[in-house]
Amino acid sequence: MNVETQPAQVTKKPDPGTAPSKRRMTARRRLIAAARNARELGSIASALASTSHPYMAHIVPMRRCNLACTYCNEFDDTSAPTDIAEMQRRIAHLGRLGTSVITISGGEPLLHPELDDVIRAIRKTGAIAGLITNGYFLMPDRIERLNKAGLDHMQISIDNVMPDDVSKKSLKVLDKKLQMLAEHADFHVNINSVVGGGIANPEDALTISKRALELGFSSTIGIIHDGSGQLKPLNERERAVWDEVRRLTRRSYSRFNHFQEAIANGQPNDWRCRAGSRYLYVDENGIVSYCSQQRGYPGIPIAEYTKAIVEREFLTEKSCAPNCTISCVHQVSYIDHWRAPQTSSITPGGAGHGSEGLVQLH
Ligand code: SF4
Ligand code: SF4
Repeated sequence: MNVETQPAQVTKKPDPGTAPSKRRMTARRRLIAAARNARELGSIASALASTSHPYMAHIVPMRRCNLACTYCNEFDDTSAPTDIAEMQRRIAHLGRLGTSVITISGGEPLLHPELDDVIRAIRKTGAIAGLITNGYFLMPDRIERLNKAGLDHMQISIDNVMPDDVSKKSLKVLDKKLQMLAEHADFHVNINSVVGGGIANPEDALTISKRALELGFSSTIGIIHDGSGQLKPLNERERAVWDEVRRLTRRSYSRFNHFQEAIANGQPNDWRCRAGSRYLYVDENGIVSYCSQQRGYPGIPIAEYTKAIVEREFLTEKSCAPNCTISCVHQVSYIDHWRAPQTSSITPGGAGHGSEGLVQLH
């Protein structure tokens, strides 16, 4: 039910289990969304006009996480937050390189005590500011602070309906947080569900996607592979859920379908990975890697990263590309799929290494 058509007659405290909770697109939120869309269109135009700047960077201000999903290799339970002044310097370097979109990743970024200043530093460069979080620390006042800091996008991955040994990123735990976001967030929210290795009930992904759409968010679906390092086709149940979620969320996929389709079928993709150039992964020590699964390559501090390196990596073929499941890098690389064949090659960490891990959709 669309709450915008209802008279405003709430006289008692709503029960979160029954209250209408769809995100309200007020005039103010529409204006914010229109401005964000205009900035995004500008960033795509700029990427089409020139190949010598990164389009997207992921930065890690906090490697520590409050959870411990068994498939994840991107967290620890000990590290301290990166100093805010150092984060601001790193973000300024991404700005110097002309980065269009800077997404804060982890670990769990909301554990960083000065996350709002990280977001402000991103917006200061003119980049679009994104945040990937498990959502556990969201509260109304925290969401309002993210609004004020200028956050543009948030993504939450929800792995199952009920928590289990693999993951506690569960709809049962997070639904109240989603309702808070629907009420308070001025930024765009995407809910990512998953199928594949380790996820017990593939049908959970459909439940999660339906709930995300019901609340007025966008929704995507990703694939988790097991630790064998090999692409495996989805089984029949997983495939049925995959097809249904894609049917429900087709506007979120557009032309990247063929890439995801090959992963679902366990087949390699033919594409040019532009990591190290159009996409940068800046870890908690400020070191630039191709992506979260190829850390240490090229292994250069962001402070020393130059346009010449961006241009070199643009033309460097990565041997892990055919079996890669890092969807955000594929989407970024798609901007240039029609131009600039790669003229040198590298084997970072061994062929096929990149086939492990969570497909991340942005
Ligand atoms: S997947 Fe996210 S929430 Fe889970 S352990 Fe890794 S960083 Fe933490
Ligand atoms: S794993 Fe994927 S994104 Fe990372 S360097 Fe290899 S091909 Fe590129």
